[in-house]
Amino acid sequence: MPDSYVLVYTEAIRRIFVILSSTYGKFVLTKECAGDGCGCLGCRLLAGTVQTADGNFPVLDLDDGRQLQERLLVYTFTEQGEAFIEALDRPRYADYRGPIGKADLDRLFQRPNAAIIIGQEGDGTFTHSFVSSTVDMRVISRGCRATRHCPCVGCRIVDMQYSEMPGHLVPAVDLSSRRATTDGKLVLPIFVDDSIISALLNRDPAVRHSFTPDFFDSPLEKMFYELAFLDLHLYPQHRAGKYRLDFAIPDKMIAIELDGHEYHKTKYHRTHDAQRDRWLYGQGWHVLRFTGTEICKDLDRCIDEICYLANVERLSARR
Ligand SMILES: [Zn+2]
Ligand SMILES: [Zn+2]
Repeated sequence: MPDSYVLVYTEAIRRIFVILSSTYGKFVLTKECAGDGCGCLGCRLLAGTVQTADGNFPVLDLDDGRQLQERLLVYTFTEQGEAFIEALDRPRYADYRGPIGKADLDRLFQRPNAAIIIGQEGDGTFTHSFVSSTVDMRVISRGCRATRHCPCVGCRIVDMQYSEMPGHLVPAVDLSSRRATTDGKLVLPIFVDDSIISALLNRDPAVRHSFTPDFFDSPLEKMFYELAFLDLHLYPQHRAGKYRLDFAIPDKMIAIELDGHEYHKTKYHRTHDAQRDRWLYGQGWHVLRFTGTEICKDLDRCIDEICYLANVERLSARR
């Protein structure tokens, strides 16, 4: 979290600069700024640099500025830039008693655990990258067209929900705090625990967390979904006619049914499954059935098979 901020209020004929800092207190730097380049301390703050043994640093992190209200901007000081505040004769300045406190700004500038960064390419498609404390910045999808229900991994993570407790879903990505960088990229911060996404992206086979809504019928379905997540955009519990498919890839008309151990043993259920498969085939669906043993023993091969049928390239090489 940054230690010091400057608020810049723009009024009709002047700008007011206020400094809020946990080390240096809160005070009004100037009320008399006449605009860019007027030469006041505020202007010098915006344009200033600090010389250190390591080079020249800007006083403020202007790239990280945020608009709080229509006429109110806030910037953070760079680490080196705080020397600017240090050098001021601070007792000369009036205390700031405005409505905005440092805690508000701390909340606004809270550093996310991880982020998705979306950039647009020359051909109009989007590239998603992911970065977190345990995952170096890496591209996770290319060629995204940002359509609704886009199957790319980037869009899937953006749509992802965590179930913190049963029945309580939290979006993984905080869309309300998205912001644009100066070079036109969109940054979507992730404030919730990002370890699951990071583990997924690292293809950690130990991932068994409830990051998905609790709507799976069985632990087998849940495990399948969580491990297939990166490679396939699966819709769990998809409806087709009067049937409910365990998983579907609707645009490819692929139905995936996981046959658990007990459920499919009875004659009644086998007949039911056969009728339903015939109906689905008639409607143009491909039906892939996997047994619990297949899923548990060689999930990778199951995913390969689905990817092959769906004509989807597997995102990441197996480790
Ligand atoms: Zn000025
Ligand atoms: Zn996409």
